[in-house]
Amino acid sequence: AKAKVVVIGGGFAGATCARFLSRHGLDVALVERNRTYVSCPMSSAVVTGLRPMDGQKFGYDKVKADGVAMIHEHAARIDPQARQVRLDNGTILEYDRLVLAPGIDMRFDALPGYDAAVAENVPHAWKAGPQTTLLQRQLEAMEDGGVVVMSVPPVPYRCPPGPYERASLIAHYLKTRKPKSKLIVLDAKDSFSKQKLFQNAWKELYPDTLEWVGLSQGGQVTAFEREGKTFVTDFERYSAAVANVIPPQKAGAIAFAAQVTDRSGWCPIDPVTFESTLQPNIHVIGDSAMAGAMPKSAFSANAQAKVCAEAVAMLLEGGVPTSPKLINTCYSLVAPDYGISVAGVYAPAKGVLADIEGAGGVSPLDAPASVRATEARYAEAWFETVTAEVFG
Ligand code: FAD
Repeated sequence: AKAKVVVIGGGFAGATCARFLSRHGLDVALVERNRTYVSCPMSSAVVTGLRPMDGQKFGYDKVKADGVAMIHEHAARIDPQARQVRLDNGTILEYDRLVLAPGIDMRFDALPGYDAAVAENVPHAWKAGPQTTLLQRQLEAMEDGGVVVMSVPPVPYRCPPGPYERASLIAHYLKTRKPKSKLIVLDAKDSFSKQKLFQNAWKELYPDTLEWVGLSQGGQVTAFEREGKTFVTDFERYSAAVANVIPPQKAGAIAFAAQVTDRSGWCPIDPVTFESTLQPNIHVIGDSAMAGAMPKSAFSANAQAKVCAEAVAMLLEGGVPTSPKLINTCYSLVAPDYGISVAGVYAPAKGVLADIEGAGGVSPLDAPASVRATEARYAEAWFETVTAEVFG
């Protein structure tokens, strides 16, 4: 009989992996609770009215056409010893190898006052969908002069430069649509991805609109009060007309059920095969995985998925997977025609995925507007390319 592989989670990681596994002639089932995937990349452009929500949505017809058995159910439990997955509808799926790609969950116990119920009115918009639309509507409904406040968690979290891209695009929205308004970013860190590039651009484009408060200036939020949408720090209280709380995060719940998470709340993996170091025959890819120096991005998720698919196919044939090299590039829009990027190359070293020094880098600090405009087009082109590969 053909070897059975079950993949849980049909996002950038899981959908890619399922398709590549299927091309090896394996018996592949993809368990994804939603029939439509809503992409986080580019969703901050939706929040700020630059792109339509429809452009974020993708179906699974082409994944199915590749021979993957699509199962639109929630995976509830895993028995690593029996190699079984139990779905909400009671179905039991048997596997030879299991790939977990459930993305992230919010740590709703990490910031006092900010839980799932509060998030219904105070969006994080860090999982795309209704939260994205909610934040967009709140910005639209806000009076000119209103203050927007965003909080950013410590690392690790999904998409390291993502909060700063969103801050930039909100500032662009305010500057062009609500010029008396202002955005305050409260950050639990002093340094962040592409910092110099972002901060130079903010000085140039949004000097009166965007105020960033880092950790040493008192940016760490210690509590959130629903009344008055107030962010509390050790030094000050910031009340917002529109609040965007980006809470600390952890691996998706099913990773906890499978007992592949460690005390950090993420999943340690072997950097060659992405097999869990805690449970045999279970691989973890995408945001849930602790992928060493690789950031939690859709680009990384897609790259890890291909490496993992090759490794799983090889292992099932009794072979020995070879050491991979992986690439990540994260584009950020600072304005619609102003893009910047960071790229890295990674390889297994001392049990983790390590940055290959001297490979990759960031956009030049001094570059003419034409270069920034070209990178903004690259950002769009990357999105078209990756979503075509994963869902098209
Ligand atoms: P996800 O894409 O979240 O997919 C997980 C899937 O698993 C979901 O569809 C979910 O429904 C499903 N699932 C989970 N648990 C279960 C279960 N028990 N049963 C069934 N199904 C389940 N990355 C970039 O590379 N470039 C960008 O420009 C970029 N911009 C971003 C902007 C924002 C605002 C945000 C928030 C993120 C951005 N990212 C970007 C990061 C990117 O969205 C994530 O890194 C990427 O989605 C991770 O892919 P994943 O497959 O691990 O998880």
